[in-house]
Amino acid sequence: MTAVPAVSGHHAPTCQGCGAALVRTLVDLGEQPLANSYVPPERAADPEPVYPLHARVCDRCLLVQVDNVTPPETIFGQHYAYYSSFSESWLAHCRRYAETMRERFGLNADSLVVEIASNDGYMLQYFVAAGIPVLGIEPAGGVADAAEARGVPTVREFFGRETAAKLAGEGRQADLLAAKNVLAHVPDINDFVAGIPILLKPEGVFTVEFPHLLNLIRENQFDTIYHEHFTYLSLLAVEKIFTRHGLTIFDVEQLPTHGGSLRVFAARRDSEPKVSGNVAKVLDMEKAAQLDRPEGYAGFDAKVRRVRSDLLDFIASARAERKRVAAYGAAAKGNTLLNYCGITHNQIDYVVDRNPAKQHTLLPGSHIAVRDPAALDEAHPDYLLILPWNIRDEVVAQNAAFRDRGGKFVTAIPQLAIF
Ligand SMILES: [Zn+2]
Repeated sequence: MTAVPAVSGHHAPTCQGCGAALVRTLVDLGEQPLANSYVPPERAADPEPVYPLHARVCDRCLLVQVDNVTPPETIFGQHYAYYSSFSESWLAHCRRYAETMRERFGLNADSLVVEIASNDGYMLQYFVAAGIPVLGIEPAGGVADAAEARGVPTVREFFGRETAAKLAGEGRQADLLAAKNVLAHVPDINDFVAGIPILLKPEGVFTVEFPHLLNLIRENQFDTIYHEHFTYLSLLAVEKIFTRHGLTIFDVEQLPTHGGSLRVFAARRDSEPKVSGNVAKVLDMEKAAQLDRPEGYAGFDAKVRRVRSDLLDFIASARAERKRVAAYGAAAKGNTLLNYCGITHNQIDYVVDRNPAKQHTLLPGSHIAVRDPAALDEAHPDYLLILPWNIRDEVVAQNAAFRDRGGKFVTAIPQLAIF
């Protein structure tokens, strides 16, 4: 692997939220290739660019973030979290969201629902079906075409102040403005949030979902850290950014998605929304975990090192007993874990994944070959390390035959478990 110097040179990094100098490390995950840069086998010998993956917390505004060190051309088109396919459970989540919002905010044929990073219209389709006008905002042409084909009008732009002002100028303001798992992926969080009140009608509602930093810290979910995931959000930190841009948070829900997420409800400050007790409740949980003070973030790095040493010890002893270890799930989070631990194809025979687009490639960094899950029936491994721990139960259920043959499942996070 080849180290590529940070494009920002040697300047001390500054906070993406408030601009203060960043002096406190949450966890330093070393130098890693981009988590989604799967390697075709014929390029296995080519040098692979790596970039520092270093999460820090701002002492002033408590925003957790990774240094944005990747050259813009390598992440262009990845500013938003794209999904090439949606799981059934995610679509069900979106359908329930549409039903709940429609009822709660009395949306009808005179309303407008807008989604930022609307992809192929996977979510807005449920509002279309209910006869509610929608508008998608999505820069990626291919998925925007797919959205239009299913009746979701789509503006092909990145979202920020400029796009919001343009749409508002055309009289297209939102009664409900939705952003699902996009906030953490925007390279300029202030420009993004500044656009929200501009695009909202005076009484409009903004909902945004993101993985909750509290769970990342509590459950050692350091493998959800990767280069294109710029910020790791607490309600405390989000409230500071929203307040700066004239938004008031009036409700919050805790969701089980992505290892524990928050759905935050906000409105323009001048609409003086009635604030639910849920907001103080979640803020209190964060304070109890000491996320409201910089020192509260100390100790995470040590917990992450422990995960690494336990996993490496397990693999070393398995190999000493001539047991074979394979992995399940070629997900981004697996790459962060494997590359942080320095695990390669020398320790793990192969990884199986159901996504045909990933099969016959090598994982970035570790160069572990991705194979069809049928491989488990041919070459019988003794252990199967489940990389996407968030779908652990699903994986176990789908691989009953592996267990019936005496195979054991392994997860590394929040701590090593063999079962
Ligand atoms: Zn800051």
